[in-house]
Amino acid sequence: MSTHPRTPTVENEPLEDRLYTVKYDDPGESHLDVKVPDVCAQCETDDCVEVCPANVWREGDDGVPHIAYENCLECSSCRFACTYDNVVWTYPETGAGVTYKYG
Ligand code: SF4
Ligand code: SF4
Repeated sequence: MSTHPRTPTVENEPLEDRLYTVKYDDPGESHLDVKVPDVCAQCETDDCVEVCPANVWREGDDGVPHIAYENCLECSSCRFACTYDNVVWTYPETGAGVTYKYG
């Protein structure tokens, strides 16, 4: 397969190394949730798990995802990716959440 000559070559560090460059202040309670757990239990797409760049959403045994909210990058991807509009998404309380060391 040929590559377009203007396609940039991007070599990223492993995800774990890149996540190491962000700092989190745990607000103590989750700013993320699901609206209706039964909807998740029947969901076959798991868009939240697929789209999250920080591995926050993880498949649960009962079909309802576990949410490791402490690692959230606040990118909003899960909020818009869920096919069933079943994600409760708010910002962490003021002063908590993610801080980026660069930029
Ligand atoms: S994509 Fe939406 S409905 Fe499916 S498991 Fe995730 S939050 Fe639940
Ligand atoms: S806002 Fe982004 S980083 Fe946070 S849980 Fe959703 S997809 Fe993952």
